[in-house]
Amino acid sequence: METKRETHQFKTEVQQLLNLIINSLYSNKEIFLRELISNASDAIDKLRFKSQIDPEILEGDTEFKIKLASDPEKRTLTVSDNGIGMTYDEVMENIGTIAKSGTAAFLKALEQSQKGNSITPEMIGQFGVGFYSSFIVADKVTLLTRPAGSEKATKWESRGDGSYSIEETTKDSRGTTIILHLKRPEKEEQDFTDQWTIQSIVKQHSDFVRYPILMDIEREEPIPEKELVLDKNGKPIGKKTRKVVRQETLNSMKAIWAKDKKEVSDKEYEEFYKHVSHDWNAPLEHLHIKFEGTTEYTALLYIPSKMPLEMLMPEYKHGIQLYCKRVFIMDNCKELMPDYLRFVGGVVDAPDLNLNISREILQKDPLVRNIRRNLVKKVLELLAGMEKDKYEKFYNEFGRILKLGIHIDLENQDKIADLVRYKTTKSNDRLISLKEYIDNMQEGQEAIYYITGDDLSSLINSPSLERLKEKEYEVLLMTDPIDEWVVQSLPKYREKPLKSAEKGDLDLGKIDKKKKDEYTALFDYIRSSLDTKIKEVKPSTRLKDSVACLSGDTYDPSAYMKRILKSSGQKLPEVKRVLELNMDHPVIAKIKALFEENKNDPVLKDYIDLLFDMALISEGDRVENPSRFSKMIGDLMSSALKVQAPGVKE
Ligand code: ADP
Repeated sequence: METKRETHQFKTEVQQLLNLIINSLYSNKEIFLRELISNASDAIDKLRFKSQIDPEILEGDTEFKIKLASDPEKRTLTVSDNGIGMTYDEVMENIGTIAKSGTAAFLKALEQSQKGNSITPEMIGQFGVGFYSSFIVADKVTLLTRPAGSEKATKWESRGDGSYSIEETTKDSRGTTIILHLKRPEKEEQDFTDQWTIQSIVKQHSDFVRYPILMDIEREEPIPEKELVLDKNGKPIGKKTRKVVRQETLNSMKAIWAKDKKEVSDKEYEEFYKHVSHDWNAPLEHLHIKFEGTTEYTALLYIPSKMPLEMLMPEYKHGIQLYCKRVFIMDNCKELMPDYLRFVGGVVDAPDLNLNISREILQKDPLVRNIRRNLVKKVLELLAGMEKDKYEKFYNEFGRILKLGIHIDLENQDKIADLVRYKTTKSNDRLISLKEYIDNMQEGQEAIYYITGDDLSSLINSPSLERLKEKEYEVLLMTDPIDEWVVQSLPKYREKPLKSAEKGDLDLGKIDKKKKDEYTALFDYIRSSLDTKIKEVKPSTRLKDSVACLSGDTYDPSAYMKRILKSSGQKLPEVKRVLELNMDHPVIAKIKALFEENKNDPVLKDYIDLLFDMALISEGDRVENPSRFSKMIGDLMSSALKVQAPGVKE
């Protein structure tokens, strides 16, 4: 057969990732085996799934397995599977480049957080290094693969040094074989051709893999009596044992979710979590439940202790695997957990499901919906019952995902609202619940006050909070874009309305009507001179020490919401703001005097513009014309200095 052998260069980010893996995982070298076995197991899953529609594809070979073989002389370790295999193009696509679209982003995040060094294995573990981890232990990797149902096979080979070769070849059986040409172990390092080493790594990292991991194991066994050589007295001479090689299954394939809770140790729960999630960290919490009743099922669910880096990427896979009577059906089972609980991982085993169920059917299946409803309830209860420190740890990792539930799961809105936590003007950086907020409310306080924005310190110092602070009312500080959706969907919590500190009237005290009338002419004048920017000028219900702030009507979008939409490129209809002025502030009184003396004084216009710009800045926005703003401030300073320090020569 004429074959063409091509050599290609790795993409830059592949080489970067390779170097990173090789240089940072030196103390956890053995994880390469788990990664390869996990790929093999995935490949078998894929084939099994495909064979449900097209049983022919199996060509009679239904004994799914993963095989390991080592050759200490040649220093090779081989991992083979009879899974789905890859076509030439798929090898190019999956192995030659990095399929994960998040890789570049991952590398960048690593670079930024670590400044290039001391990357912990956990960080890489959170990402999942996959096939490339082979190069931690091998100086050459050969991959042979033949897709199920095809004649053509492909050989891929690389030394992990920037290039790889690829050619067509032949292969007897379907599936993928990966041959690692191992580096020489350094002193005191594990030798990955040693059968005991391999056995113990499989036991530790891949025990729960659902297909048998087979290897020829050599053992000393007693020679059967019949075969012993005996002396004339009938006593055996020579060796009583001999070396026997037998194929053994290295993993237990235990379905621990099917066991009774009492029979499963914490260690086993933890190991199983690491297996299903590919996470290196222990889980924060687990939940093992058996439902008996009209809907029967078992679930073993986990809450991770750390947010995987991939969770915020669009192609993130949900962590729930669906089984039916211990037979794996599918992973990434989004249908069993809503998006706002997508951090929950684990296994659900539903014996009444059809084994050949497809995703489309799954979505509509009333049984599945029922299970989902129950699981959501259980997970929310688990979260609600967590002890405080643990919950805070959870909330810091996943709070912003969970919060979305208030917006999307109206059925459980109250329960999710019980679970949200915020920092407040009084909590000293501590997170508090809405229930705690209500318990701490001042006498006469009717509403739950909040303010939204991206920066905690500018929120705490916002002029909009001055009157609230004076009355000792606590204000929730919301610094997450999701919070804008939370407050929109949650008009009330336990009968108390949620009220924005920067929108609508705060009704904290009566506005002096007589004084207000005195200011009407000035306010009208200001409104018309800022006509393009604001819709109203009014005496403030929220300012105490500051001169001016911007606010909106109750249902207007907040300044933060506007910034969020703008930065995500969305067009929004122009909603003019309200300029609130503090009638008790001497500056406003002075401006009023100036206005009454000569409303055509050009300084008046400057001052009005300054008032507006100051209000903009205090809510974290940018002024339209910064150079004019600083010139006006400069002018003001120099005239103030003339008064305060008249001796200084100009
Ligand atoms: P990941 O497994 O996280 O996607 P890898 O780098 O380990 O990343 O593998 C990349 C892709 O190569 C896999 O998604 C899969 O499509 C393919 N692949 C890897 N190993 C095998 C295998 N043993 N059989 C079939 N396809 C495989």
